[in-house]
Amino acid sequence: MEIMTLFKQVAKHLTGRDVMFRWQEPVWNNTSGAAYKSLSGDAIIDVNPGASDPVYTFLHECAHVRLDFSQMAPSAYWRCEPGSQITPEAERAELRALPREDRADQLAKIWLDYSKRYAWRYFAPTLFEGQLLALVDYPKMEIEND
Ligand SMILES: [Zn+2]
Repeated sequence: MEIMTLFKQVAKHLTGRDVMFRWQEPVWNNTSGAAYKSLSGDAIIDVNPGASDPVYTFLHECAHVRLDFSQMAPSAYWRCEPGSQITPEAERAELRALPREDRADQLAKIWLDYSKRYAWRYFAPTLFEGQLLALVDYPKMEIEND
């Protein structure tokens, strides 16, 4: 399966929403990932291909869409050029201790552990793809209990 399709499928499965996935540097400069809510209420996730662990970054952003989407402010920032915007205060590393970030990290970690545990089942050419394929099958009941 094509990798972009796979990212979209995983995002939909884990967040319960249609997500526009972009494999690019987020609009906030020097960040590994971002989730946005468009003015029309659509979810968009960017993952920087240069992130140290792109799967983890992707899952962290999925966790934000899953947990925080109703509180996210709609904006048109997602339309800006990659890396063109100064990173907002709330996304800066020193403020990552916010409870919201802890909850997103916890959920991302549960999903990441699952993806690593079951990736081998899918005979994918890379661990990366195996992890995404495993996440498409992440059990619904576990999603509901997260
Ligand atoms: Zn975050």
